[in-house]
Amino acid sequence: MNVADSEVVVSILTDQGYCHTGDIKEAELILINTCSIRENAEQRIRGRLKAIGHLKKGNDKLVIGLIGCMAERLKEKILEEENLVDMVVGPDAYRQLPSLINEAESGHKAVNVLLSREETYADIPPVRLDKNGVTSFVSIMRGCNNMCAYCVVPYVRGAERSRNPESILNEVKDLLNKGYREVTLLGQNVDSFRWEENNHLTDFPLLLEKVALISPSLRVRFSTSHPKDISDDLLKTMARHNNICKHLHLPVQSGSSRILKLMNREYSSEWYTDRIKAVRSIIPGCSVSTDIIAGFCTEREEDHQATLALMEWAGFDFAYMFRYSERPGTKAARKYKDDVPDEIKTKRLNEIIALQNKLSSRSKKQDVGRIFEVLIEDFSKRSQDHLSGRTSQNKVAVFPGEGHKKGDYVNVLVERCTSATLIGKMV
Ligand code: SAM
Ligand code: SF4
Repeated sequence: MNVADSEVVVSILTDQGYCHTGDIKEAELILINTCSIRENAEQRIRGRLKAIGHLKKGNDKLVIGLIGCMAERLKEKILEEENLVDMVVGPDAYRQLPSLINEAESGHKAVNVLLSREETYADIPPVRLDKNGVTSFVSIMRGCNNMCAYCVVPYVRGAERSRNPESILNEVKDLLNKGYREVTLLGQNVDSFRWEENNHLTDFPLLLEKVALISPSLRVRFSTSHPKDISDDLLKTMARHNNICKHLHLPVQSGSSRILKLMNREYSSEWYTDRIKAVRSIIPGCSVSTDIIAGFCTEREEDHQATLALMEWAGFDFAYMFRYSERPGTKAARKYKDDVPDEIKTKRLNEIIALQNKLSSRSKKQDVGRIFEVLIEDFSKRSQDHLSGRTSQNKVAVFPGEGHKKGDYVNVLVERCTSATLIGKMV
């Protein structure tokens, strides 16, 4: 989401005559796009500010701005804490960047952290910052209306709003014309995408179908689905179109229904397992990845064991795994005690990671001997003789190149695998 936002920011500034540089020493304006989701994300930003501090010495013209979620969360306070920062801009105020930069250039600290109920930047064509020219993100909605007890997103990104579908379809067509072969539709809860116009409702399955119909040579992915909202209609849409990738990111967070209730996730572990059964029966061969939080408030050993059991049962192909990090202002911070000791959080997280490593390895081993269509994204990191791409199931495959290039689809027979990669040959 932050990459997609940075691309909007670069577009707004390009219109003002700025150009984007890959060399920080050359920059006259440095904008740090920030994340507040866990405390360590914010610590990293503070570390980054320290690391670039020397650039200001001998360059009085340099303007440093903090943009995004951390700007929204800390507002003016960050100016007192970090005197390197000249400008603080929240995620809904990027259109005001040119005037805020002027203000900062004239020596005043500039701040705009107003959240909006309408802003989707639908009319701003993002300037792509990706390196491969094959895969790209397309933001389809902003904000979030769910109030998961641990999560800061609704506070820093505001209420949920969907983007006009026509502008989404135009952006995807433009990407296709520029040679892109894969788009990932982005939103905090894509299942609640809704756009009503002339008594006609576009929901997420319909939007996804329209994007898929643009061209069979364009792959479509999306993230993130919410287990409480994901419908059979969506799963059937995925099954109907070859170019909608057979991969679902469905964050479970915990395997304990008691913890899920405290988290305000609005589903139980039984509901989640039922949804996975629906995925398996409607889209055979679909991979599933997830997010898991270890050590949420009041979590006991039996809750943790329920998480491990659910992971084992679901056989997740991949997972993002986190220690619970209390975020100021959230319901959990206000109402519950962060009472799982640090060493227990770490122990549980390590057990979750160890199990996931085993499951990820198993999932790759099951692919050995099978043939997958792979979209080539780049050379392999290790060798220019090998190409690298992903299967529809979102697994990285590496194989000898033989005259193919980025953006081509090839069939690859998987001969072996490492814990992270499928290795094979074209057939
Ligand atoms: N909207 C998506 C959803 O609900 O699945 C994901 C949003 S969040 C940007 C990505 C992940 O960060 C969450 O799924 C959750 O696992 C994790 N996360 C959010 N808040 C957290 C916190 N306070 N501590 C640890 N992990 C957190
Ligand atoms: Fe945060 Fe929950 Fe919204 Fe995801 S659905 S962004 S976890 S509040």
